[in-house]
Amino acid sequence: MLIDLHTHTNISDGQDSPEELIQQARLAELAVIAITDHDTVLGWQGLQNQRNLDSSSKLTIVPGAEISCRTPSGMSVHMLGYLFDPGNSALAEIMSLTRDDRIPRMRKIIELLNGAGIDISFDDVVAHSGSAVTFGRPHLADALVARGVVESRNEAFAQYLHNDSPFYVGHFAPSPEEAIAAIKNAGGVSILAHGLAGSRGAIYSLDEIESLARCGLDGLEVDHRDHDESARASLRELADARGLFATGSSDYHGISVGQRLAMEVTAPEVWEGILDRGKGCEVFTI
Ligand code: AMP
Ligand code: FE
Ligand code: FE
Ligand code: ZN
Repeated sequence: MLIDLHTHTNISDGQDSPEELIQQARLAELAVIAITDHDTVLGWQGLQNQRNLDSSSKLTIVPGAEISCRTPSGMSVHMLGYLFDPGNSALAEIMSLTRDDRIPRMRKIIELLNGAGIDISFDDVVAHSGSAVTFGRPHLADALVARGVVESRNEAFAQYLHNDSPFYVGHFAPSPEEAIAAIKNAGGVSILAHGLAGSRGAIYSLDEIESLARCGLDGLEVDHRDHDESARASLRELADARGLFATGSSDYHGISVGQRLAMEVTAPEVWEGILDRGKGCEVFTI
């Protein structure tokens, strides 16, 4: 039973439409897939009208989102939320403020790039954002590729768009503690995404992660492509010591950006625990 609890669609910065993601999930023989677009629930909500009440249906969709957070010191942190009530106004407001502020933020990044002589416009980025409601750096990366400035999304991040780059600009974001509380108040389950992925920029110490557990964090994403063996071992040990869920997931954004559904997976008993704790909405099958 393959369970992948972290994936993106083109409603945020993934490349597949929600329908295409479902096709890929079937090809990968997943039993359970969480759709966790950045700061929006529209990707999985759009699939709800295909909810299949036929008991032969095989794919369980887990409603979720990945909340973009920032610590007081300016560090970027991603918090996965599962099974929260999408109608909860406080959580919906956090996501909506974040989505809105990503637009002026994108304009500022573009101004900085233009100041360094890189020819790129806001309209270029819009043209590469397709049906996204959450505007992100990957859309800008795609626009830079189309302009011939770089050859790939990864090269765009390595050269210009990474978190410690002089072209980096933040956007409105709740603190990780605020996101944990908002997810919990909405009946959901919170899991720290790729918490020790040092290749993306600054990361928490293990002590700081432990303090999130005291604020109500439910779990840690342990098996993630950006975690080496020692990061995985440290996170697994902390999860065991604190009674946190330890998950694994692909953080899939598309095949052409080098990821594969189910490249990392979550154990069935861990998924059962998350399902049991999430009270804000129901999974559905299609
Ligand atoms: P944003 O939400 O605009 O701050 O962009 C964050 C997104 O960019 C992440 O969700 C990833 O999809 C992608 N990303 C972040 N860091 C990297 C990196 N070093 N290389 C490639 N993609 C990255
Ligand atoms: Fe992303
Ligand atoms: Fe993330
Ligand atoms: Zn993600």
